[in-house]
Amino acid sequence: MRQKAKELLESGEVKVVIGYGQGSAPFKSTPIFIEKPEDAHKLIWNPTCVNNLTVYLRDACRQGKAAIVVKPCDARSIIELIRENQIERDDVVILAMSCPGVLNLDALAEIDLADVKSVEWHQNGIAIKTNAGETIIPSEKAFASKCLSCELAESPIADEKFGEPIERHPIRSKYADIEELEKMLPEERRAYWARQFARCIRCYACRSVCPGCYCKECFTDKPCQLWVLRSTDVESNWFFHFSRAMHTAGRCIACGECERVCPMGIPLMRLNQKMRKEVREMFGEEAGTNPEAPPTLGTFDLKKDPDPCSE
Ligand code: SF4
Ligand code: SF4
Ligand code: SF4
Repeated sequence: MRQKAKELLESGEVKVVIGYGQGSAPFKSTPIFIEKPEDAHKLIWNPTCVNNLTVYLRDACRQGKAAIVVKPCDARSIIELIRENQIERDDVVILAMSCPGVLNLDALAEIDLADVKSVEWHQNGIAIKTNAGETIIPSEKAFASKCLSCELAESPIADEKFGEPIERHPIRSKYADIEELEKMLPEERRAYWARQFARCIRCYACRSVCPGCYCKECFTDKPCQLWVLRSTDVESNWFFHFSRAMHTAGRCIACGECERVCPMGIPLMRLNQKMRKEVREMFGEEAGTNPEAPPTLGTFDLKKDPDPCSE
């Protein structure tokens, strides 16, 4: 992957390669933007490569053709950006990695983080090397929850593939987290979300990290709007979250980034997965699968979908 990145920059085919670099500790990576071929060696690929880098793609493609390192799940965001006309397919070179799963940081709770030397994939999960030796954390504990239900053997869109397709054996349903919520009465569900949204500090990290939240100006930032106040009152929080869920419906690819970055631990994926399930049941498709298909909620056929307001 590093060699390919170097060649793309040397030939001038791309202006930048978006990838993962070493973070502030061996158990962390950070997004990096490589513009010189001699810097391609800074790219890394290991279980710490958690971020969905496609959030940077739209801006990068406005400066010229860009290459990007992606996991199969994140590649689905590229499909969405293409079918929503946010990027052109010809403006991106997709360097698609084979991915056994990414690190769930909670799995390191019992390890002295100052002592961690490296984090690598292992046939049974993830291997953590420290001065004291090697600890193998089993897959069900080591990997992020989305990886435990992953069905993607390889990237659904690619220009160059690195590594072999992965034989998947999901150990949990992708809708596991919403089963309990779906069994609740409507008033219980409402109370559940009211409790969650009361904790939101409206830092908007969930919005910033989302490749599907690409509006130049979010409705919440418009100075004249009165739906979402500057203060973090529960009504405004409620309005923000449900509006965002509606705006990302049909384009959320379940990368889990919004929930991962939330400083308050709000289970946003329960909302996202519920919306994905509803969209799948109503329209028979899942975001991030077909770049040729028109946007799910951006298409209206008067013959098939009569306007209910005209009846
Ligand atoms: S969901 Fe699948 S592709 Fe995405 S990080 Fe996990 S294992 Fe890799
Ligand atoms: S990241 Fe969490 S706390 Fe911040 S706005 Fe989103 S839900 Fe609220
Ligand atoms: S809403 Fe969350 S899970 Fe869905 S695409 Fe955005 S960041 Fe990813």
